[in-house]
Amino acid sequence: GYRSRAAYKLKQLNEESNLVENGDTVVDLGAAPGGWLQVASELADTGTVVGVDLQRIEDIDGVETVRGDMTDEEVRADLVERVGEADVVLSDMAPNMTGEYNLDHARSVHLARQAFETAMEVLAPGGDFVAKVFDGPDLQDLKSDAEREFRYVREVRPEASRKESSELYLVAKRRLTAPVREGD
Ligand code: SAM
Repeated sequence: GYRSRAAYKLKQLNEESNLVENGDTVVDLGAAPGGWLQVASELADTGTVVGVDLQRIEDIDGVETVRGDMTDEEVRADLVERVGEADVVLSDMAPNMTGEYNLDHARSVHLARQAFETAMEVLAPGGDFVAKVFDGPDLQDLKSDAEREFRYVREVRPEASRKESSELYLVAKRRLTAPVREGD
């Protein structure tokens, strides 16, 4: 079994959009407790999987984990250096929910934006990016920015997501550009 129900969302996203292939380098942001890491490491098989979370992640065979805050520049810079170049960047990061819709939405878009910026620093040309967001008015800006960088961008609501939830995944396929890093 998997550590979290979330694992089935990644399975579904992967079945629809062919994200992770054997040999891939995968970065998973907001990875605790580790369901996506388990699925990603099955799919990447001989590849490399790196997970980051604020929370400690219990060891998974063949998976590297980092405890850190993805809104922290230094954590991001260390991750970029460690990974080098990735084939897939995934983010299931979610804010602590307040129940106030606009606030939860804005915070989730902010986290997805951090994931997008990280992807711009590590994702190889042709690579794929996925980020969870709670639907709302701030989403369009992020989606438009992603559309400039990828062949196509879709909004996907996996069946494994709770029906009443406003969560969706931005699935961006085939990066058109190369990584840009500070100092380049
Ligand atoms: N995909 C995971 C799985 O399959 O087990 C579940 C992820 S859970 C829905 C969201 C995670 O995002 C939480 O573990 C939370 O700690 C993490 N998170 C939220 N903000 C973060 C941040 N700024 N940096 C790193 N992780 C963050």
